[in-house]
Amino acid sequence: MNIKRNVLLNPGPATTTDSVKLAQVVPDICPREQEFAGLMKGLREDLVKIVHGDLNKYTSVLFCGSGTINIDICLNSLLPENKKALIVNNGAYSSRAVEVCQYYGLPHINLQLPIDTPADLAKVEEALKADSDIALVYTTHNETGTGLLNPIREIGALAHKYGAIFVVDTTSTLAMRPIDIEKDNIDFCMASAQKGIMAMTGLSFIIGNTEIIKKSASYPKRSYYCNLFLQYDYFEKTGEMHFTPPVQTIYSTIQALKEYFEEGEEAKWARHSRVFDAIYDGLSELGFKIYIPKENSTGLVAAALYPDDPNFDFIKVHDYCYERGFTIYPGKVEKKGMFRLCSLGAIDVKDIEDFFVVFKEALSKYNVTVPVKYN
Ligand SMILES: *Cc1c(COP(=O)(O)O)cnc(C)c1O
Repeated sequence: MNIKRNVLLNPGPATTTDSVKLAQVVPDICPREQEFAGLMKGLREDLVKIVHGDLNKYTSVLFCGSGTINIDICLNSLLPENKKALIVNNGAYSSRAVEVCQYYGLPHINLQLPIDTPADLAKVEEALKADSDIALVYTTHNETGTGLLNPIREIGALAHKYGAIFVVDTTSTLAMRPIDIEKDNIDFCMASAQKGIMAMTGLSFIIGNTEIIKKSASYPKRSYYCNLFLQYDYFEKTGEMHFTPPVQTIYSTIQALKEYFEEGEEAKWARHSRVFDAIYDGLSELGFKIYIPKENSTGLVAAALYPDDPNFDFIKVHDYCYERGFTIYPGKVEKKGMFRLCSLGAIDVKDIEDFFVVFKEALSKYNVTVPVKYN
């Protein structure tokens, strides 16, 4: 089979290997068979290993859905009655968590902080000190809209100091930037198969503390389909997902995990880092301003500001690159023109060099002045 290779520079789904794509082509199977439950058991354990969790203390729970399902599940399932969630919010993804709280009517504090700086720990502690009802602290590791890195280890330590659990959206870091669930003071983290793991869409998972999940059995059930304890309990009793799993995605995820452990955590992070450096340097050479300086960046997303040049048209540049196999992505910050280039996926520096050849052609074709100008 000859599959056209596209280089995806969007923030996920990521470019996958052919072996991962082909792993989906399997004999038809009913996912209620023992054989399939056995596959999911190994997969659940491997996910815990990615964050170096002790299997006696941590577990992972699979869901059929995109990454947002994890945000929904953690918030609706892990908050005890009459307690509050503190959302440490400095970007679009933590804002999504605030919306989830609003939709469920969950008591919460939206600690809105500047979106271009890592969360201020003093502000987090102040909020925790001021309200003893806070039982859950939530934040986002890498705010994918900008590429901002949050100090999760320190936020987690504060959460624990004040007796709250710590939930982190690690969707755009897990299996890329190394995470140690215990050392990073995380009780629950999350991701989807199509991001760091470099598999297909449709499978999401929450990795977390088994005792806390068991304890949450007595918390209010706010959703039928999206409850963490109910799904965990079903897995423990039957080895299966409560409802139909994304069968083919699970096969591809198993292959992707095999490739993850073969490449190795350190080597993989080194590869994403050198790809990011190539992106950062390529953009800087062309004069682009990058929204988050390198020292505050996760090293996975570069958000470049649109230049002040009437000839610069993101859609035209996008289409030119897209037709040549490179996908670039618009920004996610209101009222600020930006586009993003990300270092996720099965790509390396050569792909970025090839991309910049095409990108420069596009700028030249549409008469954008290079180096680009800002007023
Ligand atoms: C991609 C992503 C998600 C999930 O988004 P979906 O569109 O639901 O897959 C959640 N959080 C972060 C930080 C992400 O980057």
